[in-house]
Amino acid sequence: GKITIAIDGYSSTGKSTIAKQLAKALDYVYIDTGAMYRAVTLYALQNKFIAEHSNDTDAIVESLSKINLEFAYNDRLGYSEMYLNGVNVEKEIRTLEVSKYVSRIAEIKEVREMLVGMQREMGEAKGVVMDGRDIGTVVFPNAELKVFMTASPEKRAYRRYKELLEKGEEVTYEEILKNVALRDRIDSSREFSPLRKADGAITFDNSDMGLQEQFERLHNYAKR
Ligand code: C5P
Repeated sequence: GKITIAIDGYSSTGKSTIAKQLAKALDYVYIDTGAMYRAVTLYALQNKFIAEHSNDTDAIVESLSKINLEFAYNDRLGYSEMYLNGVNVEKEIRTLEVSKYVSRIAEIKEVREMLVGMQREMGEAKGVVMDGRDIGTVVFPNAELKVFMTASPEKRAYRRYKELLEKGEEVTYEEILKNVALRDRIDSSREFSPLRKADGAITFDNSDMGLQEQFERLHNYAKR
């Protein structure tokens, strides 16, 4: 029967690429929980609740009820895109600007509670691949397959750098590496569901693995 697949791990390990492929091959629903934290961050930026060194946490928490998040499947692309209050924000949420602040927003307890609640609802029907930081530990501790993805910070920064360059963003490898390291630090050290390997998770280091190999290995795990 259909199962729940939880994929957690560090930023820019290629979780979403592989999760998307896996969902497609298995005819499962793919849910990118990072996109949800990114959309809340975009909302906070748009409403000027975020400053360089601090955020107006009260204002963010108060406005949570005004944030409507939806995934809509795009047939042409073959995956779902994120909509914030009815607007497709798939591009905006992937900028370095959002990446810079998202871990700070994801530290807010009320933000996590709201998004974890939504994620549990979305995953109620079996046949889901969900990726994030706390899927195997908090959202679906009973997931049948849990994967913890890692790769060296340099490899991850390089992959991300190439991605952003392709999208035409003007970035340097050094600033991406800094952002990757900063998010690692915040994601691992926060009090409220820090990034850690879930009980029963498979550690999956893809530093030296191509996409095809990663896909085949994970697809095999999923079919067992
Ligand atoms: O996966 P992605 O890099 O898009 O996630 C962006 C950020 O959102 C992460 O660095 C993390 O701070 C936060 N996040 C989280 N919990 C999740 C998914 C993402 O805290 N389940």
